Amino acid sequence: MVKFNGIGVSNGIAIAPAYRLVEPDLSFEKFEVANAEEEKARLQAAMDLAKAELEVIRERATEKFGEENAAIFSAHLLVLQDPEMKTAIEGKIDAGINAEAALDEVSTMFITMFESMDNEYMKERAADIRDVAHRLLAKLLKIDLPDLTTINENVVIIAEDLTPSMTAQLNKEFVQGFVTNIGGRTSHSAILARTLEIPAIVGTKNATEQVAHGEMVIVDGSTGVVITQPTEAEMADYHEQQQRFEQQQQALRAFIAEPSVDADGHHVELAGNIGQSEDVEVVVANGGDGVGLFRTEFLYMDRSDFPTEEEQFVAYKTVLEKMEGKPTVVRTLDIGGDKELPYLKLPSEMNPFLGYRAIRLCLDDQSLFRVQLRALLRASVYGNLKVMFPMIATLDEFREAKALLLTVKEELLAEGKEVSDHIEIGMMVEIPSAAIIADLFAKEADFLSIGTNDLIQYTLAADRMNEKVSYLYQPYHPAILRLVKNVIDAGHANGCWVGMCGEMAGDEVAIPILLALGLDEFSMSASSILPARAQIAKLSKQQLQQHVDAVLSLATATDVEAYVKANLM
Ligand code: PEP
Ligand code: MG
Repeated sequence: MVKFNGIGVSNGIAIAPAYRLVEPDLSFEKFEVANAEEEKARLQAAMDLAKAELEVIRERATEKFGEENAAIFSAHLLVLQDPEMKTAIEGKIDAGINAEAALDEVSTMFITMFESMDNEYMKERAADIRDVAHRLLAKLLKIDLPDLTTINENVVIIAEDLTPSMTAQLNKEFVQGFVTNIGGRTSHSAILARTLEIPAIVGTKNATEQVAHGEMVIVDGSTGVVITQPTEAEMADYHEQQQRFEQQQQALRAFIAEPSVDADGHHVELAGNIGQSEDVEVVVANGGDGVGLFRTEFLYMDRSDFPTEEEQFVAYKTVLEKMEGKPTVVRTLDIGGDKELPYLKLPSEMNPFLGYRAIRLCLDDQSLFRVQLRALLRASVYGNLKVMFPMIATLDEFREAKALLLTVKEELLAEGKEVSDHIEIGMMVEIPSAAIIADLFAKEADFLSIGTNDLIQYTLAADRMNEKVSYLYQPYHPAILRLVKNVIDAGHANGCWVGMCGEMAGDEVAIPILLALGLDEFSMSASSILPARAQIAKLSKQQLQQHVDAVLSLATATDVEAYVKANLM
């Protein structure tokens, strides 16, 4: 038995063989070949295999994500079958070098050529060529590339990191859990794991070195413990724990149709966070009172180009209709930070979390932003839409975004399109500057939603992705609690309701404090809604309020946690 730890970010127990998702070593030697015909036949065989593989991937991607999203694989097939490329590689083989070296030289030449073009579309072809060359090289070297979509038996994924797009490809039917080397509680892989309700552990530092492909792994997503080569006794113990966890989940289902009220009948709203329109079903299945955060950037990922107005309209309409009039907060595009969009071709930055992202990018590239605003406004007539702008640092940004939304609304009305009259416009409070002047924002916004995932990283200057500084990532730090209090009080004093859509909203230690501070809406991973409802039902806001001064005067996060556990839970 080998045991190691990480940060448990999605509850539950997974027991299955490991699937190591590591980039294989594709290094090769350049050498002279005596028989060019044989070498060309080897190239052809590799091309045939790559083609067959791409066709399968395209078919699966079409089934799972739709035609548009699978288009990237059609582009790859075109590159693979491009006669110009093939002739150039064969020419090099005829000149006496091996297929791997010929492929590398030709693809590098084409990539450089496309990358230097002015035309954006052509530039994007460079990425396609790089992908195809990578796949072809693996085939020549007879090395299998990891491919999440081909997994067809129960596994636990072991990886350096799971990018948002990789996580979105996970098939919940077979992927029982995952363990990564890097990441923290609020990295997007962690958030998605909770949405998918898959046990997950991140930030283990070296899981990929500790676990061999195919060996049995136990993942305890609640405690962050990973066990490999378990003994029979451990297997039995964890199977039992798994059953107990499922029974607890079952017991929580009693709260599905219950209102979200405390012991005295004080009502709050318990909403779900979603990343794709399909996730709304999980929110409904967990009895969510609404959607408190739709992270629309996921609509832009896993594809080779921007989603059209029509595609976005359909996604927003679907969510609004499924929520049947319940509040649905849709956040406008929050790309950047750890959420990359390869086709946007943004230059890499020294500090992406402090850089060109979210509302900054949208206000700078208004043509991109307008498409989303049009789709949102058109969808507004199908439900209870609230629009929220991310990463607002200054009032000017909020005013500009709001003005643009209203201009786009006027344009749509002039075109004869229908737009709802009751759309609330709000913002995320996730930058300390916004939290400090929340009173000024509250005079101009309809609602404020506190994004603690970013607010904590900016307030404590601790990268939310970096496990080396995860000890500083402290939701209960007195500075965070005081900022949260300031935002709630400022919102209420100026006629705004105040929500929280960062992970802190679903945290059982934070919940009593947030309830006492008067938070109106708690938006969390769907899997946390029922535990939160059960917890709140036992609490009394009125009694908790007597502890607010004491909690806010505590000096450290550890003191706060101890106080809450001793007195408020
Ligand atoms: C946040 O920052 O708290 C938030 C909800 O947004 P995201 O996690 O998508 O950055
Ligand atoms: Mg954020």
